[in-house]
Amino acid sequence: MKKAFIKSYGCQMNVYDSGRMADVVAEGGYAEAASAEDADLVILNTCHIREKAAEKVYSELGRLRDMKRERSATGRETTIVVAGCVAQAEGREIIRRAPAVDVVVGPGSYHRLPGLIRDAQASRKGVDAEFDQVEKFATLPRPSAARIRSRGVSAFVTVQEGCDKFCSFCVVPYTRGAELSRPAGAILDEARALLDGGIREVTLIGQNVNGYHGEGPDGRTWSLARLIEAVAGLPGIRRIRYTTSHPRDMSDDLVLAHAEIPALMPYLHLPGQAGSDRILKAMNRRHTADEYRRLIERVRAARPDVALSSDFIVGFPGETEAEFEETLRLAAEIGFAASFSFKYSPRPGTPAADIAEQVPEPAKDERLQRLQAQLEADRQAFNRASVGQVLDVLIEKPGRHPGQLNGKTPYLQQVQVTGLAAEPGEVVTVRITGTAPNSLFAEPVEAGRAAPALVEAA
Ligand code: SAM
Ligand code: SF4
Repeated sequence: MKKAFIKSYGCQMNVYDSGRMADVVAEGGYAEAASAEDADLVILNTCHIREKAAEKVYSELGRLRDMKRERSATGRETTIVVAGCVAQAEGREIIRRAPAVDVVVGPGSYHRLPGLIRDAQASRKGVDAEFDQVEKFATLPRPSAARIRSRGVSAFVTVQEGCDKFCSFCVVPYTRGAELSRPAGAILDEARALLDGGIREVTLIGQNVNGYHGEGPDGRTWSLARLIEAVAGLPGIRRIRYTTSHPRDMSDDLVLAHAEIPALMPYLHLPGQAGSDRILKAMNRRHTADEYRRLIERVRAARPDVALSSDFIVGFPGETEAEFEETLRLAAEIGFAASFSFKYSPRPGTPAADIAEQVPEPAKDERLQRLQAQLEADRQAFNRASVGQVLDVLIEKPGRHPGQLNGKTPYLQQVQVTGLAAEPGEVVTVRITGTAPNSLFAEPVEAGRAAPALVEAA
């Protein structure tokens, strides 16, 4: 049987897309390969968000070129596909730079992958960078129940693709196209199939997920809050999350959903990017630092225990030391449970890349270190504050050691539970007993549910 290997770079949207491409190639008769070396078809699902991410693809393609040559010498041919945002941004240039590549396919064209692969295997290299999201979602195959089960207890569902915000630093509006919301009925069907297959947590994803405005089964336009309410009503659902949100689209009904829908987890990833109004304006974020603060207050008023996370960019063109310190101050005031922070990376074709006053690399490095040290201290403080709390944990899989289970708290903290008999997909109540750098430790609170051997040991 032919085998396929898919390597995913970048964001959750790519993780989801890789799953859908796996379903497409499975229908075409490809089994999953454990490594690229073992595969007749290799797909790199690429990320273009920062220069480093894009360059990684070319170094991987160098490795794959050698591998393809070696396999060919032993009579085994390899088809190499570059998918994702680098494919969209660079198109045919990829085949020019890396001639071992057979197919280049952008995120709007994955449903045409089988034809492109067939053509490539008949020696016709193909590039497809059309934006056909409507057709794509209508024609991509459904995963089989067995494939869903192999994905564990938590799954992403794309509800919205593309972005019309045009932040001045960002390539997404160019690589993912204009904002498009999927019809709510199709999303609910997909969620239902996942829940039937054993998924218990659904994360609704989109580049601008809270800008969702899809057609509902009732013919009206549904907001994200309305969609979440409908997902919460599906049999088998235990947890709902959504990401990534834009501050401008954080509507009242979505804030209220955090108070009213128990399955909606108390966690919000809301990228703030910077703390200086001048920089936010130059970024074309269309919110000020104070508007961001007030928004966080509204969310905390609705759901006081909400855990917050953010993305930050340091060293945006023209950022002064004082402006960077405003970012530090904003982050410190809010106290994020988790965060992602990046050095500004000029992206060809975006307005910020043409600003003359680029911040020198050493200054960016130094700012990133300071911001990350502070964000990490806040994350650890958030985790330490969990010790002693009784929390619900969604069990995901057995832990590394016997008698251990891995799962997540409502606040997206990784937790290792000892002394409990439970299956993946169950939500159990535990007491948090300690912290490690990247996870929490917990023990059961209900004596009746404890695993027998460990009850004896206690
Ligand atoms: N749509 C989301 C939003 O509105 O923030 C996030 C999109 S992007 C995939 C994820 C993060 O990458 C952004 O929030 C931003 O912090 C970062 N990012 C985007 N472009 C960047 C660039 N040119 N340089 C550095 N970081 C960048
Ligand atoms: Fe990029 Fe801004 Fe759109 Fe987010 S909102 S995807 S950062 S342009």
